[in-house]
Amino acid sequence: MSLEMQKYIDEAEQALLHTYNRYQVVFDRGEGVYLYDTDGKKYLDFVSGIAVFALGYHNEAYNDALKSQIDKIIHTSNYYYNMPAIEAAKKLKEISGMDRVFFTNSGAEAIEGAIKTARKYAFLKDGKTDHEIIAMNHSFHGRTMGALSVTGNPHYREAFEPMIGNIRFADLNDFDSVMAQVTDKTCAILFETVQGEGGIYPATEDFMRKVRTLCDERDILMMLDEIQCGMGRIGTMFAWQRYDIKPDVMTTAKALGCGVPVGAFLMTEKVGASSLAAGDHGTTYGGNPLACAAVSKVIDLFEEQDVLANVNRVGAYLEKRLDELAAKFSCVETRRGAGLMQGLVFERPVGDIITAAMERGLVLINAGTSIIRFVPSLVITEEHVDEMITILRQSILQIEGEQN
Ligand SMILES: *Cc1c(COP(=O)(O)O)cnc(C)c1O
Repeated sequence: MSLEMQKYIDEAEQALLHTYNRYQVVFDRGEGVYLYDTDGKKYLDFVSGIAVFALGYHNEAYNDALKSQIDKIIHTSNYYYNMPAIEAAKKLKEISGMDRVFFTNSGAEAIEGAIKTARKYAFLKDGKTDHEIIAMNHSFHGRTMGALSVTGNPHYREAFEPMIGNIRFADLNDFDSVMAQVTDKTCAILFETVQGEGGIYPATEDFMRKVRTLCDERDILMMLDEIQCGMGRIGTMFAWQRYDIKPDVMTTAKALGCGVPVGAFLMTEKVGASSLAAGDHGTTYGGNPLACAAVSKVIDLFEEQDVLANVNRVGAYLEKRLDELAAKFSCVETRRGAGLMQGLVFERPVGDIITAAMERGLVLINAGTSIIRFVPSLVITEEHVDEMITILRQSILQIEGEQN
């Protein structure tokens, strides 16, 4: 690292609140699926800002759409209509099959909105204020107090107790554990269609169906968090579309704006008509023209560039290459995931392997201590996968020594 970059990092540590142990790099610009640091060093990026930059860096059509919106208007209040929000909401309805959209500024805020939707929906039915939500162990839904309350990881929550009340936890893919938490106060069951931070665990078809049936029988809202696994990441526009069910409420963010901070929670007409009403929820920035111009363009580009076909083709190839790698190294336990959301599960912590890869010009990220997570841009090619595998292999060898 140059003295100059070291100086930037020192300045960062003087000014920013230290809530992250950051990798020792200052990124400066991006081009396609490559990043460049302030020293001009090139990196292959298999993180894409944690499943955000789906269309690759420096996408000209996307950038132009933002630039022209900046020259028109960046912000108005939600007390007025604006064209980009109208366009974005229409397109989001189309790709999701949901009926009502509320734009937020982040994933956590989308979760907050989903929680409020569930509570209001139940409140309108019986006038009571003691409803319960069932969430999953090892889930991750964000850092605000409501989102933290449904995040099934005590480590994130402990210092910030008390959480919002009446949250119960079950295990993903264990329907009996969900049944054990259901009471006559249950108003919603919330989970990620593919758990991300918790270790890349896709929900099983059986679990999805049983939860759907339970929710139908008891008028409980099935709420799916698609913030990480949605927007094409596993080969369908939203991950739940791979299954023969539909949620009542869903959240999206991360790749929704491809870098412009924006999220949304969506619901069916039935839920929309009997939950949040005028005055119940709001946001100053949410759904502003700049954010919505990004959403609108992202959805257009997904179609124009046939992103889903690419995810399905390259995702299958990534799976194959990771499986080969897992078979070669005894320190690798298994591979899990779907499409371009994959996890390589190690029998050891992965921090030093990720650091070694960084030095070799490959950006990777963990999920938990022992899983390397692969959430690249959705426009990567087989050649990029090969390049990644080569560097990862060298990095594991460097740390672990020659195997088998
Ligand atoms: C990232 C993430 C969130 C939180 O989104 P933020 O934009 O960081 O608030 C919520 N749920 C899932 C599944 C996520 O991956």
